[in-house]
Amino acid sequence: MLDVQKIRKDFPILNRKVNGKPLIYFDNAATSQTPQQVIDVIVDYYSNYNANIHRGVHALSQEATDAYEQARQKIQTHVNAKHAHEIIFTSGTTHGINLVANGFSSLLKEGDEVIVSALEHHSNIVPWQMLCERTGATLKIIPMDDNGDLILSELDTLLNENTKLVFVNHISNALGTINPIEDIIDKAHNVGAAVLVDGAQSCPHLKPDVQSLNVDFYVCSAHKVCGPTGIGMLYGKEEWLNKLPPYQGGGEMIAEVTFEKTTYAGLPHKFEAGTPNVCGGIAFGAAIDYMNAIGFETIAQYEHELLEYATHQLQQIEGVKIYGTAKKKTSVISFNVANIHPYDIGTILDKMGIAVRTGHHCAQPIMDFYKIPGTIRASFMFYNTKEEIDTFITALKKSILMLS
Ligand SMILES: *Cc1c(COP(=O)(O)O)cnc(C)c1O
Repeated sequence: MLDVQKIRKDFPILNRKVNGKPLIYFDNAATSQTPQQVIDVIVDYYSNYNANIHRGVHALSQEATDAYEQARQKIQTHVNAKHAHEIIFTSGTTHGINLVANGFSSLLKEGDEVIVSALEHHSNIVPWQMLCERTGATLKIIPMDDNGDLILSELDTLLNENTKLVFVNHISNALGTINPIEDIIDKAHNVGAAVLVDGAQSCPHLKPDVQSLNVDFYVCSAHKVCGPTGIGMLYGKEEWLNKLPPYQGGGEMIAEVTFEKTTYAGLPHKFEAGTPNVCGGIAFGAAIDYMNAIGFETIAQYEHELLEYATHQLQQIEGVKIYGTAKKKTSVISFNVANIHPYDIGTILDKMGIAVRTGHHCAQPIMDFYKIPGTIRASFMFYNTKEEIDTFITALKKSILMLS
């Protein structure tokens, strides 16, 4: 059982007021809040051992390097990667995807095919479009149905010997659908294609096992798992990371430099040019520790209760239509109310201290599918409560009255 009142004490931001009302934070799919345990790690870093890493012989540099590499190992253990050097620190999911897309520029040619799903975030669409433009490869789409599930049978007709890459998110940020990535990975591997899974929305709710998934690349952002912004990770299978060329040139990523020729450093440094976000990496590790201490099974179970509770309450309100009704979904509810614009409801909710997201959620193709401009999205984390949902429902009813 999860002791939510005890957990809430870890998050100082949950004590603040917004527009004179206690904050109710339901925009967790955009970014999660940070517990004191992680804030303390950040303060400790800058108070006691801030230094550049991998370079200095002095004590601070050693301490910072050790902590940074320990964080890499924590993430390795967390996602069950075979080697620590298969974990590349990035600035976030978007950076990880671009790193891989850029690397594949030199491996693709005209006639090759790349598949993405209809449920993607823009950051998992645009880099592949750019990749296809550069290489002459063709982009194909796995379609979705009304529930917000991918139509997996269509994937069989899209896959062929020209397919080189398949990209899909583990969980959709706009609808919360949990995609059957195990099947997608198997099917893609059967034709020899590599698979990148965008785990930005899954890592806050479950513990991925990259070896048992047999996935080639897996990316996520720390700021969605109770960590800071500006840091994330790319897992890549060793053989793939060795095949891809470096993304950026600079310090840290080289073995030897002369004006005639430069040789690159081994993994993971080949992909970590320049001074990295040292503090961010260490805090990312602390965030993973924090969530593991609560336990991902406990988290998932509690969040599922919140999802069911809120879904049921919303369904009682006349005019509410929920988008994304897949059987397997996480604690994300996208909805609209009759003809009211989502932005208007979002604005009134904010006046009552309630933070939700409104708009297309960086997933315009999904909005186009439903022929809507956007939705209101309420997304829950383990520190949210049923009482907050009750307050939200009352506020929503009030805002509907004001707007109709
Ligand atoms: C948030 C998100 C991203 C982008 O993550 P950044 O941290 O902004 O790079 C990509 N994909 C999905 C599914 C997301 O939810």
